[in-house]
Amino acid sequence: MLKARTINIIFLAILVILVAFDSTNNISRWWYALLVIIYLNIQVYGASVLSAEFFLPVIFKGDRNSNKIAITFDDGPIPVMTEKILDILNAHKVPAAFFCIGNRVHDYPALTKRIHDSGHLIGNHSYWHGAMFDLQSPDKIARELADTDTAIQKVINKKPNFFRPPFGVTNPMVASAVKRRGYKTIGWSIRSFDTMTKNGNILLERVTQSLKGGDVILFHDYSRATLEMLPQFLEQVASLGLKIVRIDELVKEKAYA
Ligand SMILES: [Zn+2]
Repeated sequence: MLKARTINIIFLAILVILVAFDSTNNISRWWYALLVIIYLNIQVYGASVLSAEFFLPVIFKGDRNSNKIAITFDDGPIPVMTEKILDILNAHKVPAAFFCIGNRVHDYPALTKRIHDSGHLIGNHSYWHGAMFDLQSPDKIARELADTDTAIQKVINKKPNFFRPPFGVTNPMVASAVKRRGYKTIGWSIRSFDTMTKNGNILLERVTQSLKGGDVILFHDYSRATLEMLPQFLEQVASLGLKIVRIDELVKEKAYA
């Protein structure tokens, strides 16, 4: 929130100077338009780039001097797809984090339990993951996050401490709800774009080309490209001398409240 507040103060100061200057020199209205355009661009950047930590603190990487990385899967649990991912992870004895959508946890409790019982972390990724999630009031956002916690708690008897914003978008309303409920907001350092890529080889190349200690990778349960390249990815990580740990271990924070 500090960064957003600082920007507001700076722009307010510029506006005051502009108005004062305008009162004696009668400047073009375009200067005001320019100020508004720059301000709005900064807000859009801050809302869409989670690691900018514009509206709230975000954890998006671990220690760069370690050889540890973490992998995360968003938007599950999804029958068949999540199960296949679990089969691969479990065969390689690799832990991961699953940022689950509340209504899917409600619909697929056995699969959610399997994620947890396999040693993977479960985080909160909203109840509906709706396109308008971020545009709701802080009250409604907080309620949706609470509903997701309840759904998860019913299955694993633990309350998530980690929250990942749908679409990675934040704003003052999301920041207020997150602060109220006390989550650690979790981002990523490598976005795989696996929902836009159909080719597993291209995806593998993209996520491994600059992979280094401390990285947190964002994947999705429903990506066929991720499923296709996952075994190769896990082998390549090992051959690079990197070790996959659960994200709570990587960032040294408690997974559950
Ligand atoms: Zn998502």
